[in-house]
Amino acid sequence: MSQTEAPSLPPASAAGRRRWIQHLPYLSLALFLVAIAALVWLTRQYDADEQRTTLINDVLWMEQNLRFHLDRNEVYLQEIGRELFAGQPPSPEVDARLASLLNQERGLVQIMWLAADGRMIGAMPPHPAAQSSAADAGAQAVDEAAFELARSIGRPVYGPAHAVIGGTHHFEVHVPIWSEDATAGMVVGVYSLTDLVVRELPWWFSERYRVAVLDADGREIAAKSKVAPLSASLAYTMPFDPPGHGLTLQITAYKSDTRWVPVLLGASIVLLAGIIVWSVRQLRRQLARRQRAEIALRAESAFRKAMEDSMLTGMRARDLDGRLTYVNSAFCRMTGFSADELLGLKAPMPYWDPERLEQTFELHRQILSSGSATEGTEVRLRRKNGEVLDVLVFEAPLIDAAGRQAGWMGSVLDITEQKRAREQTRQQEERLQQSSRLITMGEMASTLAHELNQPLAAIASYNTGCMNRLVDDQPIDRRELLDIHERIARQARRAGEIIRRVHDFVRRSEPKREPLDLNTVLRDAIGLIEADARKRQVQLRVELGEPMPPVVADAVMIEQIVVNLVRNAMDAMRELAPAQRLVEVRTARHGRFATVSVADRGAGIPTDIAARLFEPFFTTKAEGMGMGLNICRSIAELHHGRLGFETRPGGGTIFTLSLPLDAPPA
Ligand code: ADP
Repeated sequence: MSQTEAPSLPPASAAGRRRWIQHLPYLSLALFLVAIAALVWLTRQYDADEQRTTLINDVLWMEQNLRFHLDRNEVYLQEIGRELFAGQPPSPEVDARLASLLNQERGLVQIMWLAADGRMIGAMPPHPAAQSSAADAGAQAVDEAAFELARSIGRPVYGPAHAVIGGTHHFEVHVPIWSEDATAGMVVGVYSLTDLVVRELPWWFSERYRVAVLDADGREIAAKSKVAPLSASLAYTMPFDPPGHGLTLQITAYKSDTRWVPVLLGASIVLLAGIIVWSVRQLRRQLARRQRAEIALRAESAFRKAMEDSMLTGMRARDLDGRLTYVNSAFCRMTGFSADELLGLKAPMPYWDPERLEQTFELHRQILSSGSATEGTEVRLRRKNGEVLDVLVFEAPLIDAAGRQAGWMGSVLDITEQKRAREQTRQQEERLQQSSRLITMGEMASTLAHELNQPLAAIASYNTGCMNRLVDDQPIDRRELLDIHERIARQARRAGEIIRRVHDFVRRSEPKREPLDLNTVLRDAIGLIEADARKRQVQLRVELGEPMPPVVADAVMIEQIVVNLVRNAMDAMRELAPAQRLVEVRTARHGRFATVSVADRGAGIPTDIAARLFEPFFTTKAEGMGMGLNICRSIAELHHGRLGFETRPGGGTIFTLSLPLDAPPA
């Protein structure tokens, strides 16, 4: 038998732990996402740092490059100045060098050479002031302050940036030229900011950065840019010195192209995390469904188990080999064997009746081959304690889920008690029949004796008359003789008739049940015994109760009981004076029973006799048979009634017969 344990409630701490475990996947997933986000952020941060470092390096490189460029130009201007101020008119070679200095790559757009007093001597490309002889004309063409400063300190000086026609800005470098400890003149190089900053930069630099020159007020005066979004966070500003004068260089990195691989990787990680969350949720939902199903299943199996245990019908299953595979509690209770002792056993079973092994085997084989009869098969078994166990077995094929026969399922009904009751009733009926037969035979014998006595006596006397005639040798009148013989024959026929009537009576002795009015039955019975009572000088007092529903019984048998009880009552009062001999017979209704009571005023029944009163052949009378009360009680029980007695207050005994009324309870 399967054991199902009742689901026990988990303690509170276990429930808390389970809830915590349920949230663990989400928590770890959230932490994982945070870690991924931090990683991405850090990578970007490293990227930004690296870009900034690159920017700074590039900017430093650019600054050095510009400075180097300006310094080199200063040297070239110094060299060319020396030749310009050597006294001779400039040779074509000098012109060529001037021209080479003025190419766009160097940023120089004009070179002027002025005398120490500021007068412009010459310029390339030519400058209008160079044709003027006025000393201040040259000075006006260049930045005066720078000119003065350069002349006084004897070192190259840069002038401030200034706008020129066309929107561009220029600045100058004043390079003093020395000749024997005195300033011989000044070579002024005019730089175009745009040319210098923009065109000087290598392509890769301008690909990465936007370079702009701002004046002291922060206005942009030159720029190299292309149409591309700028990265605000990656910008660098540094003083543009030389030329100085508040000029600054602003370098801003272009926004780099979005790098799709990390973006896609990040997106796929988020997507995967989403899928994980979804799958965890699905899994949990499925788990919850499963748990619900499990609980329902457990409840169902507990219910089935309870049903099984409380069932009174024994159940047992056998496989196709006849091996026991299942027994329920009722079956174990019936046989007295435990499930462990029975499961797995094959025939002969320990609960088979050892005295009927062969028969039981035959039944077993029959049931296994074709099942039991629809109305069940009766089998006698033995309990473990040796008691007889009568059962009714209903066997049916056991069909498994695949529709195949897996064995046999038997329902076993304990009918021991019913069988015993049936047997008892049968024995009682047998006894009753036997007693009835005895009574009938007795009655028959007395009736026969009494009734046959008369014809036989008549036959005997006719016979004696004839014989006397024959003995006396008197002449015999044939007619008279014939008459006598006719009389003898008539008496013989009468005797035959008597015997036939008795025979008919014997044949009619089967109980014939029908609804009866007990008062009527009682009246008839009293009618049968009245003559006897009169003869015995006994007074009969009959009190009939109010009309009541009928009783289903055999009228003759009930009459027989009443006659018997009244006769016993009269017997009990034999010793009394005739005036005191009174039998009271009453009918009454008590709930669902109708009663007839017969009271006498005799000596009563001593206790030792009372115990044996109903035993067959118990009698205290010399002529008694001792069967009367025994038969009366059997008849009462046959009618589902009772026969009892009690002591009558004031002396005597009351015998009471109760019979069930054929009516629903009042
Ligand atoms: P029987 O009448 O042939 O003796 P019964 O079975 O009718 O057989 O009675 C058994 C015995 O019960 C009687 O012999 C008698 O001793 C006792 N008995 C029966 N009825 C009465 C009664 N009314 N009063 C006293 N004794 C009784």
